[in-house]
Amino acid sequence: MLQSKLFTKVIKEAPKDEVSFNAQTLIRAGFIDKLSAGVYSFLPLGLRVLRKIGDVIREEMDKIGGEEILMPVLVPKENWEQTGRWESFDVLFKLKGGDEKEYALGATHEEVITPLAKKFLFSYRDLPIMPYQIQTKFRNELRAKSGIMRGREFLMKDMYSFHADQADLDSFYEMAKHAYFKIFERFGLGAITYLTYASGGAFAKYSHEFQTICQAGEDIIYICDNCKVAINKEIIAEQNQCPICGNKEFREDKAIEVGNIFKLASRFSQAFNLKYLDKDGIGKDLVMGCYGLGLSRVMGAIVEVSHDDKGIIWPEEIAPFKVHLILLGKKESWEKNKAEADKLYEKLTAEGVEVLYDEREDKGPGEKFAEADLIGCPIRLVISDKTLAEDSVEVKKRNSEKSKLMKLDSLVKDFIV
Ligand SMILES: [Zn+2]
Repeated sequence: MLQSKLFTKVIKEAPKDEVSFNAQTLIRAGFIDKLSAGVYSFLPLGLRVLRKIGDVIREEMDKIGGEEILMPVLVPKENWEQTGRWESFDVLFKLKGGDEKEYALGATHEEVITPLAKKFLFSYRDLPIMPYQIQTKFRNELRAKSGIMRGREFLMKDMYSFHADQADLDSFYEMAKHAYFKIFERFGLGAITYLTYASGGAFAKYSHEFQTICQAGEDIIYICDNCKVAINKEIIAEQNQCPICGNKEFREDKAIEVGNIFKLASRFSQAFNLKYLDKDGIGKDLVMGCYGLGLSRVMGAIVEVSHDDKGIIWPEEIAPFKVHLILLGKKESWEKNKAEADKLYEKLTAEGVEVLYDEREDKGPGEKFAEADLIGCPIRLVISDKTLAEDSVEVKKRNSEKSKLMKLDSLVKDFIV
């Protein structure tokens, strides 16, 4: 992509009403725009990141048997009443349709997926199923000041699993845990994300959160360093030892919850009278699990934990572009340098490498480098009078101070691909 064609621009000053680092930085760098508290637009660079986060999640969910669907945002009142959550779910956005029918905007989708599953699940042969979606969720949060880490409107992956019995749910639940860790590793968050024991509510001893260590996080977790697991604040009072090794020495840290998984038992299947026939033809309750992961929240968390004083440092797999190619030159050498840079851009693009190409003639080197650091693509390439004197390109990784010259004709095969 040519940087001159990008309709968004880097902004010099962070917006004054934005307190969180992730939103300030993402707004300045042109990834997102704030419409109102907790409500953001995703601009071309930001949407690329969000889509890549979604692609990683899809791949890992599909590997464990997930089937992607898309459910409605408008969920009728009667569905919420059937589970008792019209009154008890305090962050629902409620609204009336033209026919006076009432709805809530989807804050979670058990009230849709369970009656949906009822249309297809009849026998033990139909089980298990693991549908999921990636969709905008709405929660009427009183406080929305953590940028895209806690929005009133946010993108989330929610998977729901349906099983014939507890043993099948338990074994899938473990698979989902592993899939989540693979996802966080691919986001560069593996080493600082802890499986965190949380209250299981009425249906299980525990549920689990995935908490990423982050000083801007709103949660406090208690880490057992022997087992690399944690306990959340909610249950630390009653759970004063590590659920795995019994250790009572915890390290306290701040964290952001990037995912959570629950065993729901038959809470929702009973509410919608969803049953299946077992091998003997006897009607039985289904058991369910649910598995959430916040895409926009993960994006905010990555910015919070992976940056320096110049800007964002994106992990390669979800960077908006792998390469930021910068063209420099004096007036008299501009056309010659541009011809070389154009050639390199075309070659890389033809090889499938995603390149953001800064070919703007009206910007100086200082401004171009500062913008490249702020945007944070993993590899910076520079073509200038100096590099072309050696038939070379300057190559620098965003997470390293060192740069080196590489020959133009060997760059594509040696370094990028
Ligand atoms: Zn332990």
